[in-house]
Amino acid sequence: MAALLQVGGLTPLSTTDYPGQLAAVVFCQGCPWRCAYCHNPRLLSRRGETEIAWTDVVAFLERRRGLLDAVVFSGGEPTLQRGLAAAMREARALGFKIGLHTAGIVPARLKEVLPLLDWVGMDVKAPFEDYESITGVAGSGARAAASVQIILASGVDCEFRTTLHNALLAHEAVVTLADKLSAMGAHRYALQAFRATGCAAPALTATAHAGHLDPAIRDELARRFDTLIVRGA
Ligand code: SF4
Repeated sequence: MAALLQVGGLTPLSTTDYPGQLAAVVFCQGCPWRCAYCHNPRLLSRRGETEIAWTDVVAFLERRRGLLDAVVFSGGEPTLQRGLAAAMREARALGFKIGLHTAGIVPARLKEVLPLLDWVGMDVKAPFEDYESITGVAGSGARAAASVQIILASGVDCEFRTTLHNALLAHEAVVTLADKLSAMGAHRYALQAFRATGCAAPALTATAHAGHLDPAIRDELARRFDTLIVRGA
């Protein structure tokens, strides 16, 4: 079944995709949402122009045993893929920790793979009632909210993170979202400044200081979590 995993890219070594671990990153092909700030637009279609066979990924991982700590499944959206759990089992059997980057698009598959995970980072895009303004997809907020609950109930080590772009998400909305996540039980929250690299929306990339966060708001948010991380903002 892992052979079903459609892989659009592979980063052989990353120090930033799984906190504190040396990881390879497997980029899963396909995502049904259309966030304007997406920096991997070539991964959005179900079939990529250049795909990597899962068997080639396994062969690579076999050569990296003892050199890497972890494999992170990223995307695109990994939870779309039926072969995800089998691929994770295969990577785990090689001795790697397993990480996942997800937007929580398929809560049922997230629930299926959580027992295989050592760490999960979930993008939370906006207050759940406003999700469609970012993703372009009706009902996306309900899916994301369900996924946050599933992750927190699992007890798996996790981080929730939000991309900041002042044209897409007002500071008041960031506070509303942080309040909600804190009330749901999140302990670690990361705010990430919008990065223009790879983004296909000129209206967003042309904006100066797009991911700026008022320091007073940052300090206010820090009181809601055990750990608040600000990346590039
Ligand atoms: S959910 Fe992630 S991969 Fe999908 S469009 Fe949004 S940013 Fe891109």
